[in-house]
Amino acid sequence: MRYCFGIDIGGTSIKCGLFTQDGAVVRKWEIPTNREAGGVKIPGELAASISEVMGEEKLTQDQVIGVGMGVPGPVLADGMVLLCPNLGWDHINVRVMMEQMLGVPVRVGNDANVAALGEQWKGGGRGYSDMLMVTLGTGVGGGLILGGKIVCGSNGAAAEIGHIVVNPEETDRCGCGCRGHLEQYASATGIVRMAKKRLASESVATSLHSFNNLTAKDIFDEAKKGDEVACSLVDTLGSYLALALSHVAAVADPVAFVIGGGVSKAGSILIDAIEKHYNDNILPALRGKVFRLAELGNDAGIYGAARMTLEDR
Ligand SMILES: [Zn+2]
Repeated sequence: MRYCFGIDIGGTSIKCGLFTQDGAVVRKWEIPTNREAGGVKIPGELAASISEVMGEEKLTQDQVIGVGMGVPGPVLADGMVLLCPNLGWDHINVRVMMEQMLGVPVRVGNDANVAALGEQWKGGGRGYSDMLMVTLGTGVGGGLILGGKIVCGSNGAAAEIGHIVVNPEETDRCGCGCRGHLEQYASATGIVRMAKKRLASESVATSLHSFNNLTAKDIFDEAKKGDEVACSLVDTLGSYLALALSHVAAVADPVAFVIGGGVSKAGSILIDAIEKHYNDNILPALRGKVFRLAELGNDAGIYGAARMTLEDR
């Protein structure tokens, strides 16, 4: 039996997993992310933690296929990590550094892309080698898998679907500075933004007025109870997301769309809202896609990172 490590580097903690080559978890653990001095100690501390686990599990270098890593920033195909503000990294080839310390092959990818690969391997995208994962959290992220491999693009920015324009008439700005991006409607903050605008501009009867600190979960919960305004907000989110996915389909034609992130905890009401609008304005050849909820939660990153080490095998 051979093994691989999957590592998901976040701004506060680093999630680590040791897997068999078939994708069974041997053990999971976490270490804190040491961001001091521009994150220079992160590679060394991570390598030390991996070496310690190899010792405890009595694994030789020959038994380790590799170490895969997801990082919160753009990554080029050679493992060069561009700007990572959450870690303090700026143009670091973490792949070369880790390979020198560990003596095993290392693969590095953007965390959203790596999570998509994890869902494709062992989660909601199982069985679909061409799929797009959409992560609906504070923002909107994406990861595109074609032929079972991550598509990262020339700047590591492929599948940044949160920043597809879905409403050219929008006057508010997205976090990136542009206007009318998907993230302004389909993220947790986006649906709350739409709700506040609606409640301020119309005198409508809705249970949403009773929340002092309205959240995306509140809106979905009230929609499930039948509140008309909440239902209409969920429908608007679904229509913008479906529009963005139809654009992706016209370029990449994946088989499946997998929806994850905190907002996806809303469940089938969200999938229904997207499916309802997806076929509205799309080429017949691009209809009939599969829409699934993500299944791995916060572990998608370590699964995908481990899967990267098995590519070309
Ligand atoms: Zn944007």
